[in-house]
Amino acid sequence: MPEIKHPQDAIVRVTRTCICGSDLHLYNGNVPDTRVGSTFGHEFVGIVEEVGPDVTKIKVGDQVLVPFNIACGECHFCKQNMFGNCHESNTMSTAVGAIFGYSHTAGGFDGGQAEYARVPYANVGPTVIPAGMDPDDAVLLTDVVPTGYQAAEMAGIQPGDTVLVFGAGPVGIMAARCAWLFGAGRVIVLDNVDYRLEFVRDYAPCEVYNFDEIGDPVLFIKKITDWMGADCVIDAVGAEASGDLMQTITGRKLLLQAGSATALHWAINSVKKGGVVSIVGVYGPTDNLVPIGNMMNKGLTMRGNQTSVKRLLPRLIEHVMNGTLNPKAMITHRMPLEEVADGYRMFSAKLDNCIKTVLIPSS
Ligand code: NAD
Ligand code: ZN
Repeated sequence: MPEIKHPQDAIVRVTRTCICGSDLHLYNGNVPDTRVGSTFGHEFVGIVEEVGPDVTKIKVGDQVLVPFNIACGECHFCKQNMFGNCHESNTMSTAVGAIFGYSHTAGGFDGGQAEYARVPYANVGPTVIPAGMDPDDAVLLTDVVPTGYQAAEMAGIQPGDTVLVFGAGPVGIMAARCAWLFGAGRVIVLDNVDYRLEFVRDYAPCEVYNFDEIGDPVLFIKKITDWMGADCVIDAVGAEASGDLMQTITGRKLLLQAGSATALHWAINSVKKGGVVSIVGVYGPTDNLVPIGNMMNKGLTMRGNQTSVKRLLPRLIEHVMNGTLNPKAMITHRMPLEEVADGYRMFSAKLDNCIKTVLIPSS
């Protein structure tokens, strides 16, 4: 049972929590300093159970959605709405702010795949769920919806652009959907899991291709874009745990270190000259083999960041409330928190057509 440790803490009784592709990096051992005994989970909603004396923005009994970033709200970066890069919440890193349940490299805070969670800086992150919003939509607003949206935003989409998304997991699905909100003229998604491709084809909607069936994906993309490449490319894959030491990249064998960055290589090589590569896929320290020469020669802009959930919440809440976005359609499974191990196994191995799983604590 977590306890208030700081006057700005709140304790939230978790009512719904999800498993994220980011959790798979922990699950697969790709994130350093993931300690035994720490609680995972950064996507959760719940009811405020207790608040510290300095908490004024939420009160006991409120139903809140809790952004995955832990942010102080006061530092140089939070003041610029870069809540994912808070300078105060994570003293372990000069790059990223703290994240619930995401190892000691991300602050060492316990997460929300639990009955209760301690929420630091409770005046900043937790947001009261608007009346009438389905909690299934609310839980997806803690990460997946803002991350897909920010991926599209960072891609700098201009009206009519061809947007290529690598990865048809929840983040890639949402990025493909949101690309249209920025004026895309064509949206293409690549993955090699057919049920996910079928889902995103109808949901975004978009063109989909199984990268195991198209030969060299870079060549294929060039062919279907008049040899120009895509205007904007989004990497919604990140490090692949299965990363064998040898990977085939655009037809040649390259030796990579543990983990692999195949999608990122494909992204850089299939974007047009002067295009933008937007990276939301998470990479660990073993994935630093970026084709830097191509980046320079092509004059690329590469953008990436952890999502600043709070910055995007007002407009995304509106999109959900007016039906422009329907995040809960991605939820394929619902199970008691006690079955979390099965949930991870299923999501990781992509069994039973799993896209997004909601875990319900029994307390
Ligand atoms: P997921 O694991 O469900 O989806 C990843 C998808 O990529 C899978 O469907 C997989 O089959 C596919 N894939 C694997 N290799 C590929 C390749 N070479 N080309 C194309 N597709 C490939 O995960 P998710 O929940 O959708 O998350 C996606 C990524 O986004 C993860 O790396 C996650 O850590 C990251 N993420 C980042 C943020 C952020 O704030 N930047 C937030 C949430 C998630
Ligand atoms: Zn997540």
